[in-house]
Order: sequence, then C-alpha cells, then structure tokens
Amino acid sequence: MHILITNDDGVLAPGLLALAQAMRQLGTTDILAPDHNWSASGHVRTLDRPLRAREIKLEDGSTAWTCDGAPSDCVALATCGFFSEKFDLVVSGINPNANLGHDVTYSGTVTAAMEAAIIGIPAIAVSLDAPENHLGFLDYNVAAQYALKIARATVKYGLAANVLLNVNVPYLPADQIKGIQITRQGLRVYHNQFDRRIDPRGRPYYWTFGEVPGGIAERGSDIGALADGYVSVTPIQLDLTAYTMIPDISAWKWQES
Ligand code: MN
Repeated sequence: MHILITNDDGVLAPGLLALAQAMRQLGTTDILAPDHNWSASGHVRTLDRPLRAREIKLEDGSTAWTCDGAPSDCVALATCGFFSEKFDLVVSGINPNANLGHDVTYSGTVTAAMEAAIIGIPAIAVSLDAPENHLGFLDYNVAAQYALKIARATVKYGLAANVLLNVNVPYLPADQIKGIQITRQGLRVYHNQFDRRIDPRGRPYYWTFGEVPGGIAERGSDIGALADGYVSVTPIQLDLTAYTMIPDISAWKWQES
C-alpha cells in the first residue's frame, strides 16, 4: 500500500503531519505538498513555468517533498513521474476548515483529490470543521483517526472511476462524535462583498470580504451531518453535467434566437 499525502495549506501545516502520521499505519507514505498556502485556489495546473521540488524535514524528523505548484500540480507531479513507485491512494488534508457544498469547487484540498480521481487513483479529501478565526493550536488527532478509518474502508471496498470522497470532521472530542454519515453536498450560503478603495495613485482597487459562509443544515447533507455531530463522507463525482436540463435545452429553438 503506497499512499500520497498532500494538502493546500503548505507542507509545514500541522494538519498534514497529523494525516501523514495516521496514514503510516496503513502503508508507506510519500509527501509532496505546496511550499505555501493555496487555500481557495481551485483546480489548478501550472503550464507556463516549470515546477521545482525540494526535500525538507517535517517536525517529527520525517522526510517530505515540497514544490512551488498548486495542490493539484503536486498530485500530477507525484503520480506522473516524480516518484517511481505507483500510488494506491491519495489523501489530501487535513484542512483546518470544512469544505462543504459548493466549497468543493474552490477548495485546494478537494481539487487535489479531484486531480487524483482524474489520473485514476482513489482519493480522499479531509477537512476539520474548526471554528473560523480560531487562533492557536488545533487538535487534528480525531480527524486523523477518522481519515485512517475511512482510508482503510476505501482500500477495502474501492471507489468507482472518477469518484473521490470528501470527508469533513466536526471539531469535537472523539467521544462526542456520533459516527460517520454518508451525505450529499449541501447548500452553502456565501456573503461575498467587495470593498472599493483608492490606491495612492488615485486608481480604484477591490478587496473581497464578508461574513464567514453559512449553510442550510438539511438532513442527509454534509452541512446537516456536521451540525448533528457526525463525520460527513460525501462521494463526489467529476461529471458536473446537469442531466435534467438536457431535454429542456434540447428543445430550445435555435433559429429563433
Ligand atoms: Mn486550506
């Protein structure tokens, strides 16, 4: 069992070390992760410049590799030439904040797993639902233990092609988590705003801000599961086709438009 570990918070993020330490109980691990934070960078492949990788030591003395590309670049590089041995599983995280509903299209944590699914390797994205703007130490141990449990089951049962698992773990002590719920993507509610300001040369610039995204805690959704104290496991597929719209749009009369 050969497992690739990556993330979108940068190779030195504590969530990555906690994940790597848990995954070492399942197989041999290699780490290739970005050299800086790519949170909310979406699905990126760097085409117009080379990628450079270097070896570093993590806090526990273990070896990791870091490169100057995005999380999805790291997965592509790691699985298509950088490491000679094939990977059986890619695990991305542990992100300090939840990736729910439409977040999956923004999330570097999730899009790293999407890249693995495209390449044809089973993949899991793991995020912790820590309180926004939490300062100081975050305990990733509970999330890491769930990541290991879910990785074991993924290896045992397998995933269909082009499917990945998006895992979100409540920020609760282990004995307060009620279990694992298989969920669908919920509905995030974003509060996007842009502040228009004037730069020292008199030209306008725009800086995004706004309240932390909320969500509708429907039963059966990822947001609902976390609200009820469950670990949420959402199978995500890369086929974004809106099948129910195909008949409707097929009936559009093009000659009249
Ligand atoms: Mn992140």
